[in-house]
Amino acid sequence: MKFGGSSVTAPENFLSIANIIVERSKVFSKIAVVISAMGNTTDQLIELAKKVHPDPPKREQDMLISVGERISSALLAMALARKGKEAISFTGSQSGIITSSNHADAVIIDVKPGRLVSHLSLGKIVIVAGFQGVGLNGEITTLGRGGSDTTAVALATALGGCKVEFYKDVSGMYAQDPKINPLAHFYHKLNYDEAIAIAKKGGIVHPRALILAKKNGLSLRILSFLEYKTGSVEELGTHIVPDIDRPSPTYEEVP
Ligand code: ASP
Ligand code: MG
Repeated sequence: MKFGGSSVTAPENFLSIANIIVERSKVFSKIAVVISAMGNTTDQLIELAKKVHPDPPKREQDMLISVGERISSALLAMALARKGKEAISFTGSQSGIITSSNHADAVIIDVKPGRLVSHLSLGKIVIVAGFQGVGLNGEITTLGRGGSDTTAVALATALGGCKVEFYKDVSGMYAQDPKINPLAHFYHKLNYDEAIAIAKKGGIVHPRALILAKKNGLSLRILSFLEYKTGSVEELGTHIVPDIDRPSPTYEEVP
């Protein structure tokens, strides 16, 4: 399950999405959650850095902005604890998300999810801070803006997850941004090439995440956290259907 920054703009939102996770845990025995930074936290952190240095060293910028997702993941684990559900949060680095060393624009080259697998086996919900990983040199990296979608897909690939649910602030994928054109055509089902073409024109899911999901034969659903109702997930949103069987995991190419 992946929750974007718009699903957590206020502290009480963590309790709302914890409810969705608890409901889904009645259907799926193992759930890994990827979460983005709250609202416009990432923008605020970049602005903060610029007040100290107009062109901050990229390594230090990554140290700073990776914190946004870390805040969200810890708060979500707390919200689940409050609902009586055992959960544990991890940074990208702790989750074994190995990236290129290209700060602010790293690609995921491997995932070693051993720690996550152990906690999933103990029945815990694992929560991973999106948008970040660790370079082979041990440095914290970030994946570029909107990178949490790619974290979710890479993690599902590594964990052998049966599907990924993306919880967004819109109902799914449309031919145009529904916030600009409310009459835009809504897609209930898409293949990957169609979904990638739509995503490249603007938004909803990062095209990079879709390209990675296509390669790995994942099944994705994009739906609204606002419309979520118990038991109806399979009727909501846009389903992106894989065109290949699951291969052994492959990750991103270093440009
Ligand atoms: N928080 C990061 C950003 O705003 C990553 C993400 O939201 O996916 O770009
Ligand atoms: Mg964000």
